[in-house]
Amino acid sequence: MIPQANPGAGYQALKPQIDAAVARALGSGWYVLGAEGRAFESEFAHWLGTPRAVGCGNGTDALALTLRAMGIGPGKAVATVSHTAVATVAAIEMAGATPVLIDIDKLHYTMDPAELAEVLAHPPAGLPPIAAIMPVHIYGQPVDLLPILALGKKYGIPVIEDCSQAHGATLGGQKVGTFSEASCFSLYPTKNLGALGDGGVMATGDAALADEIAALRQYGWKTHYISEAAGVNSRLDELQAAILRVKLEHLDANNARRQAIAARYDAAVAGGAWAAPARRADATHVFHQYVVRVADRAGVQAALRAKGVATGVHYPVPVHLQSAYAGRIAMGPAGCAVTAKAAEEVMSFPMFPELTDVQVGTVCDMVAEISQRLPLHA
Ligand SMILES: *Cc1c(COP(=O)(O)O)cnc(C)c1O
Repeated sequence: MIPQANPGAGYQALKPQIDAAVARALGSGWYVLGAEGRAFESEFAHWLGTPRAVGCGNGTDALALTLRAMGIGPGKAVATVSHTAVATVAAIEMAGATPVLIDIDKLHYTMDPAELAEVLAHPPAGLPPIAAIMPVHIYGQPVDLLPILALGKKYGIPVIEDCSQAHGATLGGQKVGTFSEASCFSLYPTKNLGALGDGGVMATGDAALADEIAALRQYGWKTHYISEAAGVNSRLDELQAAILRVKLEHLDANNARRQAIAARYDAAVAGGAWAAPARRADATHVFHQYVVRVADRAGVQAALRAKGVATGVHYPVPVHLQSAYAGRIAMGPAGCAVTAKAAEEVMSFPMFPELTDVQVGTVCDMVAEISQRLPLHA
């Protein structure tokens, strides 16, 4: 079976370097918040092109701690999307703030700036004031960020980019995660930059904000053992930081490999009834996922599985329809209808850099075969 994702292959591809990094971290005698973590933060900041990066326990915490450090909590709302990993919305609630969900544009699956403008101008009744915007660069595709940044400016509220699926994606030649006041990245094993365990990092040009987050991730300490603010424990450990330093060196090459695989998938779906994923103009998509739309998804998935190709669904149920959130989360005037429709039809092809050319060829052949006999649509 060709898996849909395969973080183990990411380890095997770099085993000697990763094993050496792990041995170095283990031998150092220092396991949490030390030299490896500091080196990763500065190397990641340099790679991204931002002054500061702060590591933490996972991507959800990076988002929640960033909101808290910006003073966005109870009595404030944050505009985000329902078409995302539930973590985005969970992080807003962890910070004590109230999410409001904006629908997506049908082609790119990212926050619709027109609906955001509408919601900022006419917020849903009973919603606390909207104090931040948290767009998500989903699947590796940059959000239509410029109008969103303009709205942030117009209303005097920060934009916090959720870059958890888009390490290295660019818009107008500039990396996502460098446009807004702060940006957050998950380093979960399957992400474009993945640890071999949990990890997260936030990036910002605001040194005071970075210091605040660095304190909040460790009980609010600025001086050891003295809490200036009530913080949490969300630290990036030295083993993960050492592994991430190795992985970071290969991130650009791995993104290029994802793009090459995507180009072959494009050719396989071209002319058939499946639409290749749209690419935003003047942007680079880094293909965290390669997503097509399928009418009879269960049937297509089963047919591909029978031919040895695993597929995924990101995500089967939008946040606003999950029982933890349904009926109690505010939405824009579209009621996330585009999101709900997408959730019924999206399907993700196998996508990870270590897929071999032969495996990619097999996926392409099976896709071509199946698209001739199953009802598919754009
Ligand atoms: C993975 C992900 C997160 C959460 O990251 P964790 O490290 O799993 O906490 C947040 N947002 C998006 C869009 C993600 O894909």
